[in-house]
Amino acid sequence: MKKDASISSHPLIIDKLTKARDISATSESFRVLIHQITTLLLYEACASLSLTSRKIETPLKCMEGHEIEESLAIVPILRAGITMSNAASKLFPEAPVVHIGLKRDESTLEAKTYFEGQLNNPSETTCIVLDPMLATGGTANAACTTLKSWGVKKIIFVGIVGAPEGLSSLRKTHPDIEIYLASLDNNLNRNGYIVPGLGDAGDRLFGTV
Ligand code: URA
Repeated sequence: MKKDASISSHPLIIDKLTKARDISATSESFRVLIHQITTLLLYEACASLSLTSRKIETPLKCMEGHEIEESLAIVPILRAGITMSNAASKLFPEAPVVHIGLKRDESTLEAKTYFEGQLNNPSETTCIVLDPMLATGGTANAACTTLKSWGVKKIIFVGIVGAPEGLSSLRKTHPDIEIYLASLDNNLNRNGYIVPGLGDAGDRLFGTV
């Protein structure tokens, strides 16, 4: 059993998250901050990836270098995961981006799938699932269940802000996955928003508030 989640204590992440939480952040700066926080979280989340050795030649001599052994796929949950996926694609330009469209039914707060991308060689691919808000856990649970139904064996979930309710639901349904968050906040309100949270991350990212 893995520990519940890795919650970042890095000053850079804490600083940028505070700026993103601030209601006065414009959509443009919110998007830049989410992009930057994702890059920093991925640095933490990728610390456990396995390496393989490769002989290379530097301008001075031959040496044995190392590169990431695992095949990676980036799996953004639409739509709020898109900005996070842009950050991930900069780090892993060769990784396929497999979108999963899940929408919360606002009356039941349950996740409904409206789009599923396709993944080649699922059983040999480590999937990095990206969704800024781990609220009830419904969408993250559904995305991980979908990936496992395709045969994916290793999943790393990266979110910006989580609620205790969502984290315990995801941990209970998928005890085998790794979970990385910038912050674990206090609670969910009765509308399913994380408090203090970020507000509606999709609306703030795309300027649709
Ligand atoms: N989705 C959001 O965008 N914000 C929340 O607080 C919860 C779910």
